[in-house]
Amino acid sequence: MPPLVRLLPPPPTSPAPDAPLIIDCHTHLNRYEHDQPPTAAERLEQLRATMARHGVSHALVLTSYTVNDNRPSIDEVLHLVEGDGRFSVVAGVNYEQLGKQQLRYLRTLLEEQRVRALKLYPGYQRFDVRHRRLHPLYEMAGACGVPVMVHTGDTFAHTAKVRYTHPLVFDEVAVDFRLTSFVLCHMGNPWFVDAMEVVYKNENLYGDISGLTLGAFEPRYERLVLQKLNDAIAFINDPGKLMFGTDWPISDMGSYLEFAGKLDTTPAERDGLLWHNAARLFRVPEAPPEERPDVLAP
Ligand SMILES: [Zn+2]
Repeated sequence: MPPLVRLLPPPPTSPAPDAPLIIDCHTHLNRYEHDQPPTAAERLEQLRATMARHGVSHALVLTSYTVNDNRPSIDEVLHLVEGDGRFSVVAGVNYEQLGKQQLRYLRTLLEEQRVRALKLYPGYQRFDVRHRRLHPLYEMAGACGVPVMVHTGDTFAHTAKVRYTHPLVFDEVAVDFRLTSFVLCHMGNPWFVDAMEVVYKNENLYGDISGLTLGAFEPRYERLVLQKLNDAIAFINDPGKLMFGTDWPISDMGSYLEFAGKLDTTPAERDGLLWHNAARLFRVPEAPPEERPDVLAP
């Protein structure tokens, strides 16, 4: 399949020639299946090749809430992508060990501008995102100007509890921490109606459309999800709110780009979805590394 970017009209706000036109705001270097390569370095090579094949210019790599043989640490992922301007890192938060030490570590990463967001995994770690243990983290993210990404909706693991992933609770978090931006990953699938209401209502809430399928979209399911997301796009009616992400390697990147191309969007909504919103929210550099101004400098 040719890269989707060739099918698109020129963006209304013309980016620099080397600007990323498609940003995948949600990928992982975790090993989920035994047929994946055993090392994170090999999986990064796979991701590079997949992005090149599909014309994706930049990817955010989200680390896990835990570290083991199949889940590289934040430091390991930072080391792997170092010097490659096609990647940015999002630091996974371990809620169970969230105390002064982890907060200090995360604060250092944010202040040194080595990570572009934080990621929470309620459901998997079975916690309520309203819990006061998280309040210092939300305040820190707001003060540093980085968004907090949160898993919402259905989970990859049967041991997770989806009560904690319902998008409606984020209304309370968004209202109580208005200086912090939050990204509802997966748009609360299958609770799209609740997700679209809280994203519409709160100016500090955004949604990513990643992880809505395992592998490639199957036609009947794709039709269902297209309808739900088209409803959300029409209801939100704001080109600045939704972002393209795949959840690679869980979801197939090529199938996901075809899916995104079928969404009922205006040109502004499509540009917002594919690159502009993520570029703005995560401050993804829009020029090659050697010419890149220090966009994160105060
Ligand atoms: Zn994910």
